[in-house]
Amino acid sequence: MLYTIEYLTEKIQASEKAYDLEKITAAYELANEAHKGVKRSSGEPYITHPIAVACILLEFCMDTDTICAALMHDVVEDTDVPLDTIRKRFGEDVANLVDGVTKIGQVPLNTTKEEQQAENIRKILIAMSKDIRVIIIKLADRLHNMRTIMYRPPEKQRKKALETMNIYAPIAHRLGMSAVKEEMEDISIKILDPYGSKMIEEMLDKHKEQRDTFIDIIKSRIRERISDIQPPPTIEGRVKSVYSIYKKVYVKGKSFDEIYDIYAVRVIVQTVIECYNVLGIIHDIFKPIPYRFKDYIATPKPNRYQSLHTTVIGREGIPFEVQIRTYEMHNTAQYGIAAHWKYKAGLTGSVAGEKRFDWIRHILEQQQDADDIDQLADAIKVDLAPDDVYVFTPKGDVVTLPTGSTIIDFAYAIHTQVGNTMTGAKVGGRMIRFDYRLKTGDIVEIQTSSNARPNRNWLEIAKTSEARAKIRAWFKRECREENISEGRNSIELEFRRNNMIPTEDFILELANLQHFDNADDFYAAIGYGGVILSKIMQRAKDIYNARNADKAQEESSDEILAASVTKRRKGGVIVEGIDNCLIKFAKCCNPLPGDDIIGFITRGYGVSVHKRDCVNVINSSESEKERWINVMWAGGTESESYNATIDIIAEDRTALIADITATIAAGRLPIRQISAHQLKNGNGNVIVTVEVASVEQLNAMIGRIRKIQGVISAERTGIV
Ligand code: MN
Repeated sequence: MLYTIEYLTEKIQASEKAYDLEKITAAYELANEAHKGVKRSSGEPYITHPIAVACILLEFCMDTDTICAALMHDVVEDTDVPLDTIRKRFGEDVANLVDGVTKIGQVPLNTTKEEQQAENIRKILIAMSKDIRVIIIKLADRLHNMRTIMYRPPEKQRKKALETMNIYAPIAHRLGMSAVKEEMEDISIKILDPYGSKMIEEMLDKHKEQRDTFIDIIKSRIRERISDIQPPPTIEGRVKSVYSIYKKVYVKGKSFDEIYDIYAVRVIVQTVIECYNVLGIIHDIFKPIPYRFKDYIATPKPNRYQSLHTTVIGREGIPFEVQIRTYEMHNTAQYGIAAHWKYKAGLTGSVAGEKRFDWIRHILEQQQDADDIDQLADAIKVDLAPDDVYVFTPKGDVVTLPTGSTIIDFAYAIHTQVGNTMTGAKVGGRMIRFDYRLKTGDIVEIQTSSNARPNRNWLEIAKTSEARAKIRAWFKRECREENISEGRNSIELEFRRNNMIPTEDFILELANLQHFDNADDFYAAIGYGGVILSKIMQRAKDIYNARNADKAQEESSDEILAASVTKRRKGGVIVEGIDNCLIKFAKCCNPLPGDDIIGFITRGYGVSVHKRDCVNVINSSESEKERWINVMWAGGTESESYNATIDIIAEDRTALIADITATIAAGRLPIRQISAHQLKNGNGNVIVTVEVASVEQLNAMIGRIRKIQGVISAERTGIV
């Protein structure tokens, strides 16, 4: 067969479909020019290969763009014509097809590994083919390469045969393209097991005449009985594929005589009803073998295959299989997914706007309980719901990772040591960032260095918990000191950000909450990522605020008490009728010299001094009446000083506290304590404790403070 443009043109013109011959010719011309002077191993011009691939696709009734892409499928890979040229001249669609075929051609196919590996590669190829036509072109490409494999050196033949057997034939099967699948397998098995397949061919040859006669007899017997069906059905007789017999003999260990379906007769009719009619007639003529009947019409195979299968025995005692199907089913059986273009696509073959795999989804929905539905579902799952990405090592091993994974995840998935010593990585030969999201089909080359070590921020970049666990384990093991200081630093930073002070006992409380009995272990855990600081911060803040609220309250009441008891114990108060009695200033009203005062005889604590206008005095009960006693300020108390607290509310502004302290300093009152905080309404609250000698001095100061700009109120505190 000489594949020329004339031959292709002829086939196109003979086709029922309307092809854009001009576009196809232009694609041919570009490819012909690009491959000029290059020859195949067979000695033929290189262009014969793309033409042959286009012819195969034409047989599948693929559309114009697919034919164009087929003609140019090796141009980008093998010549210096850039993809852009194709895009400009033939449009996005054709360019994407060529690009897709080029890319899946670059996937390293390591087929020496176990079946799972091959399965992963098949998924990748399907997933990478953003358009299923890419896979169909690739299958046609491989099919033609296999047809001409004899021109390649023996080791190439073996490698290609293995790939074809493990990767491409199963894909063809998945897509229901049984003609492609069988041809690929038959060519491959001859290369992979020349002796074994030769035995089978010889056995088949030996009985060829007998067999042909046998099939002819059966065909005519069937034809006689169904002669009333119009138009007359097609009846084909054949020997099953070499590889299907090979498998039964060598894999299932059956003897040649045991194989029921070496012979197969196929009856192709117009309608489904005729299928069942013919089945009845066949069972009437021949004796059916029990349990060998399969109704793939009622229950299609996941790859859309439909037919009735039955195995019967004729008068000669030889079993044979009969397949009964309609013409449409026959086309689907031959071309599988490609039949989609044959029937569904319009004349121009465009399927744009139609969701690819829709038909598969449709079948999945209808045939939930079909046998190997899971297989097909798996094969296309990567496309429908991309949970995982499939990436390669440079040797072609497949690593499956969840979507969103990075080179860190990849490195740790290969080996912990690879992750721990990684310095960077290349994808497709280019250095990439650590946070690069891996894509299906990426070939990842990890670079390591024996003195490299993981980085803490990998914990945030890595997607898989496996990788993070390994990174944490490394930090936990390798650098305790560093973890501690790293942990301490991040706590300090985080606390500062939240206006919190990391006191020792507070850190210990937090550590205990996380089940560490000392702060260092807690710091170390934060350091290596065992404790995620951001996850415990809210809790820490709550505890912190609660603690400080308590403390603030304690402090302020302590303060008043201190002012009342400690400082004023010696205060000059004379109690009527009693000398040297224990004096205590009531914290409810904080009397100062000059205040009108009264004493109350307590049980065991001497006399407590109140202001006369104190609420506790006014509200005192009748029964306590005798316990009130007159007291007065002793004279000459100038040298004594008392603490008094002023509560100031002011509009919050800068330098407010500076102005207050300056005012107090100008009045020569020593400040004992000052605190400030913001109130909920936005105003500032300054509480200042000053040392005063008398109530007059205090009142004068309060008057001055009230004049400070922005001050809303200033009051002496003490009323509880
Ligand atoms: Mn090719």
